[in-house]
Amino acid sequence: MPRPYISQELRRMVAKRADFLCEYCLISESDRSSRYQVEHIISLKHGGSTTEDNLAYSCVFCNLNKGTDLGSIVWQTGELVRFFNPRRDFWGSIFD
Ligand SMILES: [Zn+2]
Repeated sequence: MPRPYISQELRRMVAKRADFLCEYCLISESDRSSRYQVEHIISLKHGGSTTEDNLAYSCVFCNLNKGTDLGSIVWQTGELVRFFNPRRDFWGSIFD
């Protein structure tokens, strides 16, 4: 699948909205040696769109680990758990 075009304006908006933090691990881009990426929360292959509500700012590690998946199976329980969605979930509620 070809890489979608994401305009520089949209990339800047996503980065600024995230305050230049990875939206998954919350580590600042200034604390990493590599540039962050604008990634699709719901991948294109799963019907996600290249729109601001489906884009997140991500470090390379989080983006590569997430890949195009939507969730994973907890091997201890066999439960299917969807991944954190920066547009729908809040970190504060994860640890309640
Ligand atoms: Zn990260």
